[in-house]
Amino acid sequence: MDVYIHQNGVPLCDKWYTFKKDIFMKFSNLSLSKEMLHNLNEIGYKEMTAIQAESLPHILTGKDVIAQAKTGSGKTAAFGIGLLTKLQVKKFRVQSLILCPTRELADQVAKELRTLARATHNVKILTLCGGAAFGPQLGSLRHGAHIIVGTPGRILKHLKKETLSLENLDMLVLDEADRMLDMGFSEEINEVLDFAPQDRQTLLFSATYTDDILAVSKRIQKDAISVKTTSVETTNKISEYFYEVEHGSKLNTMVNIFSNFKPDNVIVFCNTKIEADEIANTLQDKKIDALAIHGDLEQYERNDVLVQFANKSARVLVATDVAARGLDIKELSMVINYDLPHSEETYTHRIGRTGRAGAEGLAFTLYESRQYDNADEYKNETRKFEDVTLLKAHSGFEMKPEYITLVIEGGKKDKLRAGDLLGALTGDAGLNGSSIGKIDIYDRQAYVAIENKFIGEAHKQLKNGKIKGKKFSVWTF
Ligand code: ADP
Ligand code: MG
Repeated sequence: MDVYIHQNGVPLCDKWYTFKKDIFMKFSNLSLSKEMLHNLNEIGYKEMTAIQAESLPHILTGKDVIAQAKTGSGKTAAFGIGLLTKLQVKKFRVQSLILCPTRELADQVAKELRTLARATHNVKILTLCGGAAFGPQLGSLRHGAHIIVGTPGRILKHLKKETLSLENLDMLVLDEADRMLDMGFSEEINEVLDFAPQDRQTLLFSATYTDDILAVSKRIQKDAISVKTTSVETTNKISEYFYEVEHGSKLNTMVNIFSNFKPDNVIVFCNTKIEADEIANTLQDKKIDALAIHGDLEQYERNDVLVQFANKSARVLVATDVAARGLDIKELSMVINYDLPHSEETYTHRIGRTGRAGAEGLAFTLYESRQYDNADEYKNETRKFEDVTLLKAHSGFEMKPEYITLVIEGGKKDKLRAGDLLGALTGDAGLNGSSIGKIDIYDRQAYVAIENKFIGEAHKQLKNGKIKGKKFSVWTF
């Protein structure tokens, strides 16, 4: 595993790290209490994971840290050990706040913190999440707590009602920050921060490292040390294939590519608007979920399409170059050039949308034999020009989206927030937070991605119930 530590983009000590790796990985090398070390040993944490080894030394000296590491890499214990070490148990006030995207994740974090806190007597950890009854939370808050774990919407509600005070807060953690942004929580997070003292330590944990995350870090952290652990370099890894196809067989070839490589999501680039619509329609006829986007769409139609593709309720987007401008999809598994691009530059731009964040990307380019000369210009040692007949045809292949988008006729102008929607969907024997995907809130409309099999339930829950005490019309595309 390669490990990078940066401050303001400058590597701090990667050489030193490799050199001292052995002692660096031991918890006993940190200034932790005897009780904490004993407990870590008891619960089977024999040595630090990479992200813990990289972040804990900084966290323990009180620095703000922005840490990126894959799921399952032990981020909870990284901030957990940090905040528990800092905690003054005798001072019975809320000293740490951990914001999480969903109730399930908050429960998991609270559970891990309780395990880590076993060695420290009388640490009170409280979860405050939307989708749970408000009353009992008031009761628990009256009894006091050291550490609060919760979702941004519900925390904000308590802060506004003054049932929770952050006056004594000295550690704030944003866990799964990327997911919180995806779920539309950025405004709530900002408002929660208005209640927090300036003089505090702020930790930000995320599985991905995007510009949005960096912007949040800039806004809420001071001189943050950035810590990344990755097993691959961050440059794009894209496998590029070229196929010569016979006139009229491009669509079938494309379907064969889908069935052979099974991409999660694909952008198909073509050169004209008419073609974009035709391709999307034909794919739909073939039970491949596709939407077209081009310059002829109205702004709102364009928005509907982009939201659905970005929140995983559409798997194939057929686009012209102009229409795809500004499209920011974090994880795109495949790009198809249905036609040869007009220039190498366009080609590079198109395929550069896949293979981000260390994941491997796939790029396919189709051309007809009469375009052979133009295609020839794309030849280099890494691009594979393969025989299209080697692509197996699979009959009955379908591509269905993972999510379906619920549209709510209400938005920012109605003061709707992600937390309200999440609350309305998960409250009263409603959905599990994990079945809810991305939430996008615009001025007059909100979009919520719901896992396919729960769409009926979600629709019913919102149609029959109220959001913020009001009825809104709700529909799916
Ligand atoms: P992340 O938040 O990065 O997705 P978690 O914090 O949920 O990951 O940790 C994943 C698993 O690893 C948990 O089961 C946790 O108990 C375990 N774990 C964390 N740190 C260590 C460690 N140092 N040694 C062994 N197991 C660990
Ligand atoms: Mg986690």
